[in-house]
Amino acid sequence: MKFEPAKRPLTGETLESLASSLAERGEKPFRARQILDWVYKKRARSWDDMTNLPKGLRSWLDATFALMPASLVLNRHSADVTDKLLLELEDGSLIETVIIRAPQDGVGVDHSRKTICISTQVGCAMGCVFCASGLEGLKRDLGAGEIVAQLLQVCYAEDARTPRARAELASFDNIVVMGMGEPLANYDALIRALTIVNADWGLGFGARRITVSTSGLVPKIIRLADEPLGFRLAISLHGATDEVRARIMPINKAYPLAKLLPAVRTFSERHGRMVTLEFILIEGVNDSMDQARRLRDISLDLHAHVNLIPYNTVEGLPWKRPEVVRQLAFADILERSGVSVTLRREKGHDIAAACGQLRLKTERERGDSRVAAEVST
Ligand code: SAH
Ligand code: SF4
Repeated sequence: MKFEPAKRPLTGETLESLASSLAERGEKPFRARQILDWVYKKRARSWDDMTNLPKGLRSWLDATFALMPASLVLNRHSADVTDKLLLELEDGSLIETVIIRAPQDGVGVDHSRKTICISTQVGCAMGCVFCASGLEGLKRDLGAGEIVAQLLQVCYAEDARTPRARAELASFDNIVVMGMGEPLANYDALIRALTIVNADWGLGFGARRITVSTSGLVPKIIRLADEPLGFRLAISLHGATDEVRARIMPINKAYPLAKLLPAVRTFSERHGRMVTLEFILIEGVNDSMDQARRLRDISLDLHAHVNLIPYNTVEGLPWKRPEVVRQLAFADILERSGVSVTLRREKGHDIAAACGQLRLKTERERGDSRVAAEVST
């Protein structure tokens, strides 16, 4: 499912692809780097900002490329630790990008670690029964330019929040691909986008600070293991047996644990780093002590980190999180055996929980006067 925008988004260009378009026009090779420098290092917001480019080149760029393929509809700066940017794409689709601030003791929110959660699709086709992103199926894949644009919009928002000298433009600490959509189902656009994010001519962001989360597309996990850039991997496990996992994640039928777990092992062996197993705790579904023991065995075997996430209720869905005592008992079974495990309970602090359910209101808000009202207040 592809969307062809009227103009190529500049944020989807690599140095090579831009240089070759410029070469066809007879431009000098250094222009490509100069242009990308304006976009990513100087955060130019219009072609006219690019003052060292000849006027003729600027108007050709304007006719050929969209400088920014996502416009900001709303910035919900909240009192807790998450900010949400609602972005509108050229075809009217809405996506959300989340900024999660983890305050560091004693230095306040402005010096907190910032994790940015980005989306890769509008909707999701995987149909996990607990997830808001999949409720209305897949609308379309995002292009690489739309994926990168989310990060640039975060930069714009952060630059505006804390004005600084040019040399000190706002930055962030981690990127998690845990927003709307299944990233590995939009593989080529994902890799192209992350290449741009990582490159020195792009955002220059270290691959080891980028985590890709997947519901378990086995062939793509193996392909990802072979990518030269060493991204981190998180697996949405959510069930420690096929029986439980298949009940909530349809993908388990195509890729049961006997296929998924060896693929995870391949990835972690190739990268020599711990993979994270995400496990949402849903009452009466996967929160039994038997599931805890099986999850313990899986994580010890894979030498994986476990992130336990108490389920966040989704409007219209029947699931809820277990009582805190049960969450703790579940975590304790893992911890006692030496598994590296986190269980977060503070509102908004958990990255996967905070950004794993972006979908809920976005499309429904489309055309809804509340959006306009919020923007104007
Ligand atoms: N499609 C990918 C990435 C997006 S989902 C994946 O499934 O991994 C990001 C994370 O949020 C996943 O672990 C997902 O299972 C989780 N999630 C989805 N709905 C949630 C909810 N209601 N409460 C807590 N976590 C949720
Ligand atoms: Fe899609 Fe991930 Fe949600 Fe499953 S959990 S429906 S794969 S976004």
